[in-house]
Amino acid sequence: MTTPRRAPGGFPVVGIVGGGQLARMCAGPAAELGITLSVLAEAEDASAALVVPSSPVGHHTDAAAVLAFAQACDVVTFDHEHVPPDVLEELVATGVPVHPSPGALRFAQDKLAMRERLTALGVPCPRWVRADTAADVEAFAAEVGWPIVAKTPRGGYDGKGVAVVASAAELADWLARAADAGTGLLLEERVPFRRELAVLLARSPSGQAAAWPVVETVQTDGICTEVLAPAPDLDPDLSARAVEAGLRVAGELGVTGVLAVELFEVAQEGHEPSFVVNELAMRPHNSGHWSMDGAVTGQFEQHLRAVLDLPLGSPRPRGAWTVMANVLGGDYPELYPAYRHVMARDPEAKVHLYGKDVRPGRKIGHVNVSGDDLADLRERAGHAADYLQGVVTE
Ligand code: ADP
Repeated sequence: MTTPRRAPGGFPVVGIVGGGQLARMCAGPAAELGITLSVLAEAEDASAALVVPSSPVGHHTDAAAVLAFAQACDVVTFDHEHVPPDVLEELVATGVPVHPSPGALRFAQDKLAMRERLTALGVPCPRWVRADTAADVEAFAAEVGWPIVAKTPRGGYDGKGVAVVASAAELADWLARAADAGTGLLLEERVPFRRELAVLLARSPSGQAAAWPVVETVQTDGICTEVLAPAPDLDPDLSARAVEAGLRVAGELGVTGVLAVELFEVAQEGHEPSFVVNELAMRPHNSGHWSMDGAVTGQFEQHLRAVLDLPLGSPRPRGAWTVMANVLGGDYPELYPAYRHVMARDPEAKVHLYGKDVRPGRKIGHVNVSGDDLADLRERAGHAADYLQGVVTE
């Protein structure tokens, strides 16, 4: 195992479990701050392992690998939420500070636990229930109406593990698997939302917190494709209430590091605009990629500051708007040749690619563009992303 080399001058080593693009994007800010990163990577060619010299290979479900990795770190944080609870407990028992703590992380790992806790806190949620049998499904649908949304409590991402169903029969397989695993299913009413929003903030172990402006996240086929920062035409009162809810969730759950609270904005005739919480993520998040170029402090720097309990940086936007467009894997395995066109066409576009294999639909990078004209920024960010994924060729 490579031992991370610490910079002289008392600088810490931050360990990140998981070698995905989120760990990779911490590398730039860490280097600038003189902080050493160490990454427990799934493979030698994992996204972060390509840019972080100390990237021992090990799996996040392997307690021995995680513990050996943590021994060389001053603080441990995560690239994703999939480290099993028993491994997390062993990690905490080593005495190395872990941020977010397993007690907080649980609410990002388990959607049923999250719904229970947020409901107890009075944070607006869709109507929901735990279902173990077809009769539970029928009873819930009789209350909220078909179709309903069913979710596996653990392990879902990018819409996998979420199904909109119009009958209990469609859930027969999921119910059987949930029964075997003893987890149950989360059922939710289908929210007639106007759009999806996200509150992103960071909180430090000392309790300092800083929130970026609320953003709009545009989804295509269950995958976030575009983020508009700040969310256009957002009611200021709704924005304030959403940030307040996010800060409250962070404080009550004891979240440390970056927290993303995904929201549905609901606009019903004759009612004030309102929101319900969809889910929580406790790590830098796709909805915050815009902040790397569009805010005084980007989310990756802020996450490092938060887990090290350093004072937080300003989350203030640098300009009127920033648009982030995700680059999804397309037909072109050769990405680098596209740089010539993308960079020449728009010298203000900031391209971030993650060093990942191109597979259709996989998030392999993103583009940020900032300025004053939102429609123009959307066109430019979209064009750069489309060109990189081979959707357009001129
Ligand atoms: P994941 O954990 O895979 O990101 P989410 O819980 O965010 O899954 O759900 C994925 C998408 O499914 C959401 O972005 C939203 O478009 C839709 N969705 C989820 N829950 C609901 C709901 N209760 N009502 C309507 N749409 C929903």
